[in-house]
Amino acid sequence: MSDCLFCKIIAGDIPCKKVYEDDDMLAFHDINPVSPVHFLVIPKKHIKSLMEVENTDAALLGRLLFKAQDLAKQRCEERGGRFVINAKRDGGQTVDHLHIHVLGGRSLSWPPG
Ligand code: 5GP
Ligand code: ZN
Repeated sequence: MSDCLFCKIIAGDIPCKKVYEDDDMLAFHDINPVSPVHFLVIPKKHIKSLMEVENTDAALLGRLLFKAQDLAKQRCEERGGRFVINAKRDGGQTVDHLHIHVLGGRSLSWPPG
């Protein structure tokens, strides 16, 4: 997707502060963090949102979530954190490439403000 911001980050055309990368996914720090720990875990496959995920993406989704957990364990330690997937307009999604926000490092209120 040539016009997708996150695809450009995956391609290396836009720099990012990388947290993790393998053949299927990339994790990098959010440019506008809302908590001391705030990074994004994204598939390299361009999927527009969680609402567009298909059955054949089930294993990929599982790996993304498991990697988010693994990275959160390293960065949030035993305090835990929040895993957020905004989807489409009402969900407040601003970048149309599926991503998991991993937030931590402070106590997060619920419901969010
Ligand atoms: P959304 O609102 O779609 O769930 O989240 C998109 C996130 O991407 C936002 O938290 C925003 O700060 C982050 N973001 C937008 N542009 C960039 C960028 O160029 N680089 C990085 N690292 N994060 C970005
Ligand atoms: Zn994309």
